[in-house]
Amino acid sequence: MKKRFYITTPIYYPSGNPHIGHAYCTTLCDIFARYKRMRHFDCYFLTGTDEHGLKIEKNAQKEGVTPQEYVDNITSIFTKLWKAMKISNNDFIRTTEERHIKVVQEAFTKMYQNDDIYLGKYEGWYCTPCESFWTETQVGPEHICPDCGRPVEKATEESYFFKTQKYLPELMKWYEGDKVIYPLNRKNEMLNTFIKPGLEDLCVSRTSFSWGVPIRENPKHVAYVWLDALCNYLSALGYGSEHDELYKKYWESEESEIIHVIGADITRFHTIYWPEFLLSLGVRLPDRVFVHGLMMMKDGKMSKSKGNVVSPYPLIEKYGVDAVRYYLVREIIFGQDGQFTPEQFVERINVDLANNIGNLVSRTVSMIQKYFDGKIPSFVENVNEQDKELEILVKSTIESYENKLDDLHITEAIVDVMNLLGRANKYIEESAPWVLAKDPSKTENLKSVMAHLAYIIFVGAKLLEPVLVEKTPLIFDSLGASENERDYSNIFNEHVLDNHEVKKGEVLFPRLDVAKETEYIKGLMGGK
Ligand SMILES: [Zn+2]
Repeated sequence: MKKRFYITTPIYYPSGNPHIGHAYCTTLCDIFARYKRMRHFDCYFLTGTDEHGLKIEKNAQKEGVTPQEYVDNITSIFTKLWKAMKISNNDFIRTTEERHIKVVQEAFTKMYQNDDIYLGKYEGWYCTPCESFWTETQVGPEHICPDCGRPVEKATEESYFFKTQKYLPELMKWYEGDKVIYPLNRKNEMLNTFIKPGLEDLCVSRTSFSWGVPIRENPKHVAYVWLDALCNYLSALGYGSEHDELYKKYWESEESEIIHVIGADITRFHTIYWPEFLLSLGVRLPDRVFVHGLMMMKDGKMSKSKGNVVSPYPLIEKYGVDAVRYYLVREIIFGQDGQFTPEQFVERINVDLANNIGNLVSRTVSMIQKYFDGKIPSFVENVNEQDKELEILVKSTIESYENKLDDLHITEAIVDVMNLLGRANKYIEESAPWVLAKDPSKTENLKSVMAHLAYIIFVGAKLLEPVLVEKTPLIFDSLGASENERDYSNIFNEHVLDNHEVKKGEVLFPRLDVAKETEYIKGLMGGK
């Protein structure tokens, strides 16, 4: 397994304010990056904004500002949100930055000199909001954009084209890797929808608007937004510049695993054109492209026009960043679509965070204070069958958590941890410490129960640390674990808390009034 990672979110298109769908993808990548770093691996995490294109130009015009002023404003909202969500990205790339523009121009020139790009005329069905040309078959008899469902128009322009057939055999070789595109149905979709019917050459320049990266060879053209946007993954690492240490370390080196995390709506660009661009540039291909599902609202896809967008900000303010991060990654199974409902949001906080975690911690701390003067008894293995079974469950949970997270199956990994904590809660009921405490002959048994509970809480907190960034340190405080002891290397060390003093902390996740909070969130979403 590789020990160096480069993980990226798509760069977001700042034509509107960030919503919970953007937050979802960024949180996924953040949890992966934090998890790898927690295990002392090297992980470079990139996000950013895609700031060119017709839509931005038009929006700026409408607001009476320059496109640059327009994107400066919205991008600052994105960066503020990532800060509020405790996103640990190493860099934030903006496609209007000089370091990026140079790379796009350089890439175009290289492809042109390779004879991979030629000047032609494009006639096709154009979707203005998506800035995409579509073929007759793709728009169908209704002439509807296959991505957004809006009507398309016939349009012609002089354009440069990228020869997509040239690198197809190499692309197909890349497709043979069984984990390159996940989930597998996305790969099949690409093969059946785009590749098998005959891949058409891709238009890589535009003359119909000017807010983009000018092509040096022919400055009335700007680079097609996707050629421009995709290059961010290279430009952020200093590709082609004097300072390309990061590029060498995280991209060029085979020791690094390159992972793109994307939404299903941009799979085609990341799994067909992007690898072909890289082949043309003679640059190695990404190791994995993970396609996550989309955050939906009850009445369909989240969209500003439907007024069903929920902003993460007020949720963070009211319920805390951990609740929002946890909800996002717990509610949507990777690769499937998820749905935001206020009821589920409140229930997740109450059932998973307040009960399963918060209650377990506070009950355990109280009992250790009551029965053992606040000192965690030394861990003793195999006191009885029940303890033995619990010890096995802890080990298997850690192993499956690691395997699942390595594969970016974050939701499933978290479910395993929550099941372990659920088991610990049940263990309290089964072993009934309040009964054991009354019988002096059962003291050893009672000690073992407390030591097991403390250790399981330690393990659970450690495994949830990449998600619950604010509250897990408080849990370690309650257990009296020092900074060094919190290190991941102690995860299998059952004696890590022996004789430590517990401390009652604040309520980790206050229980919410379901009716009241559901109403409040509905209000945020525009009433109803
Ligand atoms: Zn469209």
